[in-house]
Amino acid sequence: MLCVGLDDFKSINEQFSYQVGDQLLLALADRLRAHSGRLGALARLGGDQFALVQADIEQPYEAAELAQSILDDLEAPFGVDLHEIRLRATIGITLFPEDGDSTEKLLQKAEQTMTLAKARSRNRYQFYIASVDSEMRRRRELEKDLREALPRNQLYLVYQPQISYRDHRVVGVEALLRWQHPELGMVPPDQFIPLAEQNGNIISIGEWVLDQACRQLREWHDQGFSELRMAVNLSTVQLHHNELPRVVNNLLQAYRLPPRSLELEVTETGLMEDISTAAQHLLSLRRSGALIAIDDFGTGYSSLSYLKSLPLDKIKIDKSFVQDLLDDDDDATIVRAIIQLGKSLGMQVIAEGVETAEQETYIIAQGCHEGQGYHYSKPLSARELTAFLKQAQRNQASVL
Ligand code: C2E
Ligand code: CA
Ligand code: CA
Repeated sequence: MLCVGLDDFKSINEQFSYQVGDQLLLALADRLRAHSGRLGALARLGGDQFALVQADIEQPYEAAELAQSILDDLEAPFGVDLHEIRLRATIGITLFPEDGDSTEKLLQKAEQTMTLAKARSRNRYQFYIASVDSEMRRRRELEKDLREALPRNQLYLVYQPQISYRDHRVVGVEALLRWQHPELGMVPPDQFIPLAEQNGNIISIGEWVLDQACRQLREWHDQGFSELRMAVNLSTVQLHHNELPRVVNNLLQAYRLPPRSLELEVTETGLMEDISTAAQHLLSLRRSGALIAIDDFGTGYSSLSYLKSLPLDKIKIDKSFVQDLLDDDDDATIVRAIIQLGKSLGMQVIAEGVETAEQETYIIAQGCHEGQGYHYSKPLSARELTAFLKQAQRNQASVL
């Protein structure tokens, strides 16, 4: 059983029209049908999904070949209404009898496999795997619970200090989101943020994070740490949400925060996905006075010419390079190159994941401006961070 799901069919409907979409589905059905005389059955499951049942497959590789030939066949564009439209698909495959003994099970699992494969990468086929099935279940459960997390007060922020290498003072903190799940305990953000991005929940969660972080920063400013800066992570989904600049503006005003005391971190990969829209949105964010940092730098495929054209204030060197810096010449070279690049573009450079004094010495020697990592502190609760700031203040005073 092959479940064929079209990639981004919604956007085709939006870009053209539903009529064009319908004609396209018809043309696709023809192509699928003409594709192989061997097909046992072809059906449209609804929307942009089709099922192919192939009875005479003896070996899994034959199913793989069939799936690949369908994908290859889609490479040629469809001509509809003078438009040349390209379709791509993702295919989930189940085998009888290994993966299920009823039509229903085979179909359901093929569809599941297709959906999960789409979330990872598109334009490919994927065989059903039992472990994927339980993973899918787990994700669905987690996603359901996540919808309740905010109203049930299970989310909170922790803060990790950022140190300036000019005077070794704490100049900022990064807000990091935590989810205390009632049964599972702490769920890492790497696990639940992608879920929230998929179901759109990230918009309301992200606004809550911004509000919470700004409120906390106001409190620290009131306590005398008036130079402190707050860095907040933005998901790509948030960045492309039209309301974001307004939300940021309102928060800065509501909490009377000086401009440039809020720094928004956007990931390199997120920015590069759609540079022209990202650039527009970054510009309007920056008008609110917030600073923009590019996170996880070095892990994506930044086009350097675009980097110059984006309104960025800071580069964050990804921790993977910082951590292996002293054992791996390539990583050391990358770190040096990023610092040079940032400086020549007039940006601040911060290293994340600084864990040892040796790493610190190296990046300082290369001219890095700031650092963040376990060498200074793990992420702390607001109360712990207040104590950390006070201690740092006392140390500074005793040095002077
Ligand atoms: P990130 O923005 O790259 O955050 C840095 C991560 O590195 C944090 O993990 C932090 O706890 C960890 N870290 C800090 N210092 C060290 C160190 O010295 N060594 C090592 N090995 N790790 C260190 P965390 O808190 O688990 O966050 C993971 C990711 O989740 C973040 O990566 C960020 O992409 C995302 N995230 C966290 N909070 C938010 C949020 O409020 N909104 C959004 N959109 N994403 C968030
Ligand atoms: Ca970050
Ligand atoms: Ca990072």
